[in-house]
Amino acid sequence: MRIINTVAELQQQSDSWRSQGLRIGLVPTMGYFHEGHLALMRCAAGSSDRVVTTLFVNPTQFGPGEDLDAYPRDFVRDRQLAESVGVDILFCPEVDEMYGQESETRVVTGQLAKRLCGASRPGHFDGVVTIVTKLFLASKPHVAVFGQKDFQQLAIIRRMVDDLKFDIEIIGHPIVREADGLAMSSRNTYLDKDGRKAAVCLHESLCMAQAMYGAGPHPLAAAKVADLVARHIEQYPQCKVDYVAIVHNRTLEPVEICDENSHLVLAVRVNDKVRLIDNGPLATAN
Ligand code: AMP
Repeated sequence: MRIINTVAELQQQSDSWRSQGLRIGLVPTMGYFHEGHLALMRCAAGSSDRVVTTLFVNPTQFGPGEDLDAYPRDFVRDRQLAESVGVDILFCPEVDEMYGQESETRVVTGQLAKRLCGASRPGHFDGVVTIVTKLFLASKPHVAVFGQKDFQQLAIIRRMVDDLKFDIEIIGHPIVREADGLAMSSRNTYLDKDGRKAAVCLHESLCMAQAMYGAGPHPLAAAKVADLVARHIEQYPQCKVDYVAIVHNRTLEPVEICDENSHLVLAVRVNDKVRLIDNGPLATAN
């Protein structure tokens, strides 16, 4: 596995692979790898000939008072893990490489980014689409893999790829979970013992919502499902609901009556400081 720190070097490598007819797969990350990240890298390897993983804690997607400085980092471990799943290039630029002193151009999101996480993290998704655009231009991938864990982010990136006509296939990888159902996240390391136990309420409430939808009767009001979810989460004194919503799985518009396109999205603050997200379709296979 090769470590690359500059955009020019990565572009050169990608051009060379492209000229040999090789398909390039990209996995953008902020590092501190867990099984969720590694699953994305394996998925990229399965749908391309060469895998580029990027490791960059992107400052423009953090708001004032958020955890940019505290964000967990372990380069040595990340390098070993990426290599172990067959990544060809680990791209780890410095902030100056991605945002030079005079950098001022940004990609701007639209309606999809205004609600849910966008409402509590203003500017966050503009930072995300700006860095993703830069990473696309640096790595020139044929396919890029993102996690369904960040459901709104995935929808916004798909929208951007359509809007800007990027010739890149976007794959949304299913959420990878801990044994008790908690969605894996680098931010789970912030949880203390009690917080970690309580954090299972996100997945529990998702399962309850799916069971409620499965049992009916229909039509079923989305407000009823959202209320069940919020009440379950609030039973845990460590947890505070940031948002609970039932939305259309593509437009992310709130729905009134649940149907097979309805998706539960939720964000919960644990111990007042760790903000966790989860999501899932109301209609499940069984
Ligand atoms: P991050 O390093 O948190 O920015 O995440 C990098 C990529 O990994 C994003 O596309 C995330 O959606 C994805 N990801 C993070 N956690 C998970 C998970 N538990 N399951 C699936 N994908 C994930």
